[in-house]
Amino acid sequence: MVSLVTESQVASLQRGFQGRISMGEPMREYTSFRIGGPADVLIEPYSVDDLREALKWAWGFGLPVFILGNGTNLLVADEGIRGAVIRIGPRLSSLEFHGETVTAGAGISLPALARACTERGLAGLEWAVGIPGSLGGAITMNAGAYSCTIGDVFKEVEVFSLDGQRSTRTADEMHFAQRSSRLSQGDIVAFRATLALRPGNVEESLARMQEYMADRKVKQPLHMPSAGCIFQNPSGRGAGRYIDAAGLKGLRIGGAEISPVHANFIVNTGNATARDVLMLMSHVRRVVYEKFGVDLVPEVRVVGG
Ligand SMILES: Cc1cc2nc3c(=O)[nH]c(=O)nc-3n(C[C@H](O)[C@H](O)[C@H](O)COP(=O)(O)OP(=O)(O)OC[C@H]3O[C@@H](n4cnc5c(N)ncnc54)[C@H](O)[C@@H]3O)c2cc1C
Repeated sequence: MVSLVTESQVASLQRGFQGRISMGEPMREYTSFRIGGPADVLIEPYSVDDLREALKWAWGFGLPVFILGNGTNLLVADEGIRGAVIRIGPRLSSLEFHGETVTAGAGISLPALARACTERGLAGLEWAVGIPGSLGGAITMNAGAYSCTIGDVFKEVEVFSLDGQRSTRTADEMHFAQRSSRLSQGDIVAFRATLALRPGNVEESLARMQEYMADRKVKQPLHMPSAGCIFQNPSGRGAGRYIDAAGLKGLRIGGAEISPVHANFIVNTGNATARDVLMLMSHVRRVVYEKFGVDLVPEVRVVGG
């Protein structure tokens, strides 16, 4: 594929930029699925100023921008991603407490945030301990588990538009829905968010987190690369139950397999391509629709190509 980004364009960003910039790096290094071809340019800002610079730079050259968090809900095409991938990573993971609220950089990992809040005696994020995404990714996806979602504790988020304008979005502007929010449109970038928690008991919260982790270890194939649940749960019944009832557990296409542990996980058995996963997903959708009349909706975000 022909890159949309030239070396001289990249050189013009490098002046005064603190973060990391690399051209042609395989996205498989940045996704939990361990799948995905090269990004024309991958930019990792080390500060909020860096992030604004990177956005304004891409805007100035008319380059498409994809915002990457921890890459735990993504299927990146084998051809990779054209334009700029801007990674909101651990360098943007500030953390401040004010009474019962916590304000954190969008790059903080959700388990680290959940633990920090719990240790501080704040309850309301225990469910998040086993979700391997970043805070920004969790807000985008309205991530959730055990009947709780990030939208339940969300107060506000600070964002940039793609041309670098800064603003704050409150909960009623976020349109939280099943695994989506206002951020899902890809035209604003979260760099810091505030959550409203409640006073809790540290021991009780830690015990609940341990239970959740133990539950995941039994029910999910955590030892294999995946992007978590591949389909959203239709109302009333888990997607995995339909896939299991259709007899599809363990089915393989190339290196992609319907996990024998949890039917709503597709795992990379070693050398899966995005194409293998997409073929397996469309096969599952067709069989489940034919058997049960249920049209499964992908939860994983398919990007690039
Ligand atoms: C083993 C495993 C278990 C999982 N369990 C759960 C679970 O229980 N519940 C659940 O909901 N999910 C689960 N997931 C999926 C995933 O962890 C969540 O969706 C998570 O919130 C994604 O965050 P991320 O940082 O990895 O986002 P990414 O995968 O990097 O990106 C996801 C989307 O968010 C956008 N995005 C990321 N950061 C920002 C930002 N700062 N500003 C604007 N847009 C942004 C991206 O452009 C993309 O559209 C699981 C995944 C795995 C691998």
